[in-house]
Amino acid sequence: MRKPIIAGNWKMNNTAKQGVQLVNELKPLVKDANCEVVVCVPAIDIPAVAEALKGSNIALGAQNVHFAEKGAYTGEISADMLKEYGVKYVIIGHSERRQYFGETDETVNKRTLAALAAGLTPIVCIGETLEERETGKTEEVLDRQITEGMKGIDDISKIVIAYEPVWAIGTGRTATAEQANETIGYIRKKCAEVFCPKCAEKVRIQYGGSMNAGNCKQLMAMSEIDGGLIGGASLKSADFSAIVHYDEQGLKLNKDLL
Ligand code: PEP
Repeated sequence: MRKPIIAGNWKMNNTAKQGVQLVNELKPLVKDANCEVVVCVPAIDIPAVAEALKGSNIALGAQNVHFAEKGAYTGEISADMLKEYGVKYVIIGHSERRQYFGETDETVNKRTLAALAAGLTPIVCIGETLEERETGKTEEVLDRQITEGMKGIDDISKIVIAYEPVWAIGTGRTATAEQANETIGYIRKKCAEVFCPKCAEKVRIQYGGSMNAGNCKQLMAMSEIDGGLIGGASLKSADFSAIVHYDEQGLKLNKDLL
């Protein structure tokens, strides 16, 4: 059984004050959630949002972490700095970081191993561009992102994988539930091959890319999809809480494990 996990990625939105307001609205709306609920907030919002989340069922996440423990890395933030504020999750390798900030499978790998060593749970993002999909390279790209980006991970079930087709992020264009399910099934199969079949059955794999209150139920009903990484729709409490309550039955059983 894999407990579904719905995580919001605020990206570079919400000042600390606005972030506190948003989580204060969100807390009562998601207090009975059956899935894990996470908000990944801008680094500077972390202290204030951490305080506002105390005693709630919403876990705190960051959007990046440096791989070194400390030192001369101006502008960067270490895993220990995040942990001191109770951060539990950290997004690593989001396509925007790969596209605009020179993130590579190698740096994704280093950040992921550092986060795991510090006891954080990485949410590692992988996914193909439109051109890669249209030229039949999706599996090749995912294979590389898994073998290089996740190299050296002892137990793959200790991370969360977010499958985010780049062409579906912030575009309003969602992968169909079947497309997402098929690709996530492929990712799980590859993880079984590269790591171990048992860990691959346990690892939670989210879908991300224009997931919203309208399409979340259909996506979440798919056997391979264990959650969502939500950008735009995580910025409004009503939208995000509707996704959290995608299925009032809560825990989704993985039929293959029964
Ligand atoms: C994201 O940023 O991870 C994302 C999925 O964004 P959106 O939901 O806005 O497509």
